[in-house]
Amino acid sequence: VSAARAEAVAGVVARRELDALLISDLVNVRWLSGFTGSSGAAVVGAGDDGARAFVTDFRYRTQIGDELDSAWTATIVSDPLAGAAEAVGGLVAARGTDRLRLGFDDAHLSVRAHTRLQELMPDTVELEPAGGVIEGLRAVKDPEELAAIRAATELADEAFTQVVSRGLTGRTEQAVALDLEMTMRTLGAQGSSFPPIVAAGEHGALPHASPRDVAISAGTLVVVDWGARLDGYASDCTRTLATGEIDDAAREVYDLVLRAQEAALAAVRPGPTGREVDAVARDLIDAAGHGERFGHGLGHGVGLDVHEAPRLSKQGEDPLVAGNVVTVEPGVYVPGVVGVRIEDLVAVTDEGHEVLNGLPKVLTFVR
Ligand code: ZN
Ligand code: ZN
Repeated sequence: VSAARAEAVAGVVARRELDALLISDLVNVRWLSGFTGSSGAAVVGAGDDGARAFVTDFRYRTQIGDELDSAWTATIVSDPLAGAAEAVGGLVAARGTDRLRLGFDDAHLSVRAHTRLQELMPDTVELEPAGGVIEGLRAVKDPEELAAIRAATELADEAFTQVVSRGLTGRTEQAVALDLEMTMRTLGAQGSSFPPIVAAGEHGALPHASPRDVAISAGTLVVVDWGARLDGYASDCTRTLATGEIDDAAREVYDLVLRAQEAALAAVRPGPTGREVDAVARDLIDAAGHGERFGHGLGHGVGLDVHEAPRLSKQGEDPLVAGNVVTVEPGVYVPGVVGVRIEDLVAVTDEGHEVLNGLPKVLTFVR
């Protein structure tokens, strides 16, 4: 896998008319090489026979033996940035070019690191901003990645079912959030893919509510947004539950969000842009008079990061392709009153899509 991914990167590097790409963001490094440590960088030269250099520090000497395949020439260095500069220096020497264009990740490299890199590199190396190369490739999952996301999703579903079976009414939002985290860990997850959101009643009107030390009352809606991390991959799902009979206004909002979610979900397939899929849900919510209460995008890619490419929003210019894994999560938030969000995690397939999570979306009443 690692060799194939390096090859894909080398192809993009060549198409962008770069000589090499420095990969310094650790999530990108992990995706590219399989390396899971906390310090490392890679340099990928353009073309099939380009450089595949990997640098890390002495703590990972044994680990790289297990994690890196033979595609990589690994070097132990005291400072990965300096080590990467040395690898690039080697490239310059080997090729005898008077000028080398090195792409770097301008979305992740700090200004300080960039300045250091400039000092460390030979004068003939030109640093070119080239963010998004790895992220673009990461947006299309291979079968191994899909299996990891599916497993994380199934684990998260099971944790949710167990937690909800213990009842919500009378427990604090924080207690339910902690229960979710502990149950996911107990079931074998590395942890949460993000701190769970548990938000009852009017608190649910905050899209990114922090769980409060406040007991959940009967007869209210509760937004629960959670995900598991397994083998490095994230899951992400939201359900809104009812702790008993709710008023007509809340029910109306729930039904609207569910309708918008199912309509947008039906539009997920290769072809339409993220913006077009977003518009399916947005138009329905607009038409119902709640347009201003759906302030976030419809969804986002999920993989090693819980928020990654592609975006399903007004800014989503890229057409969906098979292998994308995205959330579909419209919400309506009525300030001070109620909030509803329903979120599925979906793989785009050649034929359309496959919903990875398995929990029902009809309004579910719980204790
Ligand atoms: Zn979510
Ligand atoms: Zn999400």
